[in-house]
Amino acid sequence: MEPQKKNLRFVFVVGGVLSGLGKGVVTASVARLIKDSGHNVTTIKIDPYINIDAGTMRPTEHGEVFVTEDGGEIDQDFGTYERFLDINIPKNNNITTGKVYSSVIKKERALEYGGKDVKLIPDIVNEIKEMILKASEGFDVSVVEVGGTTGDIENLIFLYAIRDLMQEYKSSTIMVSYVPRLKNVGELKTKPTQHAMAKIRETGIVPDFIVVRSERGMDKPRLDKIATSCFLPKENIIDDPDVSNIYEMPLIFERQNFVAKILKNIELNYKEDAEKWREFVDKIKRAEKEVKIGIVGKYVAFGDAEHSDVYVSVMEAIKHAAYNSNLKPVIKQVFSTDIERKGDKILSEFDGIIVPGGFGSTGVEGKISAIKYCRENNIPYLGLCFGMQLAVVEYARNVCGLKAHTTEIDSNTDCPVIDVIPEQKELIEKKMYGATMRLGGWPANLKNNSKVFDLYGNKDIVERHRHRYEVNPKYIEELENKGLVFSGKSPEGKLMEFLELPKHKFFVGTQGHPEFKSRPLNPHPLFKGFINACCDKNA
Ligand code: GLN
Repeated sequence: MEPQKKNLRFVFVVGGVLSGLGKGVVTASVARLIKDSGHNVTTIKIDPYINIDAGTMRPTEHGEVFVTEDGGEIDQDFGTYERFLDINIPKNNNITTGKVYSSVIKKERALEYGGKDVKLIPDIVNEIKEMILKASEGFDVSVVEVGGTTGDIENLIFLYAIRDLMQEYKSSTIMVSYVPRLKNVGELKTKPTQHAMAKIRETGIVPDFIVVRSERGMDKPRLDKIATSCFLPKENIIDDPDVSNIYEMPLIFERQNFVAKILKNIELNYKEDAEKWREFVDKIKRAEKEVKIGIVGKYVAFGDAEHSDVYVSVMEAIKHAAYNSNLKPVIKQVFSTDIERKGDKILSEFDGIIVPGGFGSTGVEGKISAIKYCRENNIPYLGLCFGMQLAVVEYARNVCGLKAHTTEIDSNTDCPVIDVIPEQKELIEKKMYGATMRLGGWPANLKNNSKVFDLYGNKDIVERHRHRYEVNPKYIEELENKGLVFSGKSPEGKLMEFLELPKHKFFVGTQGHPEFKSRPLNPHPLFKGFINACCDKNA
């Protein structure tokens, strides 16, 4: 680790006041501008929960589970990082309390502490530092986001570790804060920010910058007031208003020379090179012609709150493809149980439908109806993972006349067209649910002259997976005889990875999750094909 010491720099992003402010977007935007300056950058996220990873968390409460190329099931902020930075980030860059403790306990059981008593300080702190350093190895700059809010007991220990790293490495720290506007007095309130600053200083960390989140942006006197009351130079208070599109954020920071100031702090050069990004944002602003997409799922709302987080990568992938074709995406989430109650007429407003990944029985019949509606009416359909599996069930039922289902929903079905693979059966029986699905990047071979081959422009592709069930090989011949084409298979030919209907405008299912690999400047070919078909372009 020694030679790295001189070169590696850190940028830490911590939160004050409350969570959910878009620290992930701040982290990703800063990292993007550092990358544009010509530095090799990575991002790390610390999540102070005891879960090992996000894989076992309920999507309606915690948002999407992002899947990495190396098979991690991690925090959705990694999707934002990957999209902004256009790199693949390994799962070990997500450090959780669970991971830290289980590693320390494993070492203790292996007598690696040589009989010492193992303690929060220094052992847990050292473990955190080691994990951060390992994930930062080989990079010029590591941007580390600390989840949660300063003052929470659960992230205190991580802040101690960071404080230590600050002593050893050139680093700069950003606190992301929030300034509420009190409607009754029409005033912006800076006090919570002052308190958050005091709280974080108690840990020995002195932030260099405050990114001030607010609804409409801040005026100069208010920003200056924050500077004075928090004892920071005025130019280090960065205005960060709500934006209609998160991809604008790097440009907002650029206008305030934010990253130039950060890089000066850590003695690196700044180079303005956001031209491509600017062009992309201009495209977003110019897009007028609408393309209306329905995402039919069950994780649409939780309590009173409508969720936009659960299918975030699907939504972003739609946006990337739409903007690329100069279209304005209008995306609506449809509760699949509403289709069960009201029928498929509620889908008539859409140019195309996606059934995304999913688990369990709620709303499954609604999803199947949506797929049937697309198939019969030549409406573009893209099925992602569960959306592909249910397309097989729909076809088996309504075209082949089988009483088919997936054994995930009906374990006694007469025709298990989708079934669990034997290794997975064992894991389920042992209740080994965490990190045991078919996960991460898996190769597939695409069939010549198929739609997916045309779109990818390549025979050998890799997509990320997260599932336990597969198309049952026993039914493949029957389904294919009736016109369903399995247009992509695993290299040994055993697993069905893609399906399509050749005569349909666009009817494609994939066992993978292409949404995780779509990038703003490089939209995913399947989503591009889908969106173009929705507008009849090249369909
Ligand atoms: N529930 C299905 C399975 O486990 C699909 C999972 C998904 O859509 N990611 O195979």
